[in-house]
Amino acid sequence: MSAYRLLFFCFAILSFSLGLEAEPTPAKRSATRETRATPEEPGITFNSVHVDGPYIAMTFDDGPSATLTPKLLDLLAAHHIKATFFVIGENVAEHPEIVARAAQEGHEIANHSWSHPNFGKMSDENVRRQLQQTDDAIKNATGKRPTLLRPPYGSITAREKRWIHDEFGYDIILWDVDPYDWKRPGPAVVRARILKETRPGSIVLSHDIHPGTIEAMPSTFDELETKGFKFVTVSELIRMAAARPSHPSPQPGGTVPASATESPSPTPSPASSPGG
Ligand SMILES: [Zn+2]
Repeated sequence: MSAYRLLFFCFAILSFSLGLEAEPTPAKRSATRETRATPEEPGITFNSVHVDGPYIAMTFDDGPSATLTPKLLDLLAAHHIKATFFVIGENVAEHPEIVARAAQEGHEIANHSWSHPNFGKMSDENVRRQLQQTDDAIKNATGKRPTLLRPPYGSITAREKRWIHDEFGYDIILWDVDPYDWKRPGPAVVRARILKETRPGSIVLSHDIHPGTIEAMPSTFDELETKGFKFVTVSELIRMAAARPSHPSPQPGGTVPASATESPSPTPSPASSPGG
């Protein structure tokens, strides 16, 4: 929607020239009542989604794992939970049957690159190859192309976000809940961190390649359910935001783009947070 984008762009210029540009939103934006799209990238990047109900998205990165992902799929099925898997292309090529199963069981399959490099430091051509190969591998395994990307380590520049969105149509998905499970702190800590930080609209990051993460999930799911949370895929969560009634901000056509919370910076601290 170029008119909308232009309007936002003008607004951004105006804000900047008037010196009204606010400090970047902190990573924990629970205090902000009103989430909004960043002026230059409306509706492209999501750390969490502003929803009216108790909906959350569980996301699992870096798989599929030959042993752990099937275990997780069993758990998800037992709990009737739909999750989103941000898969590594070379793992998909190795175990397409696991990815096919996940898709058949209603989970969303999304692009997490071919070999987990740092996009923020790569040429466009290499990023493009990483994305296309993985897109193809997912299509081969599931019959469907992905619509979401999570850049490895959450590392991606604002410019990359734009051309990737334009070329591949991907929304860029980060997270607002990070249990740091890749540090293998033990299942109890993984569970406690997720339970403490998850709120309506959260996108929860985890990895289905660590045994402790899978071990943490049965009780994590139980307790999230007890708290009243309902589990949807990331695309479903985004669609829920898009369905909200309009805000008093410029909205040509009266529709609201899916509200995204801003990243703290174009490259959300990959060094300190090698999650994703
Ligand atoms: Zn990752």
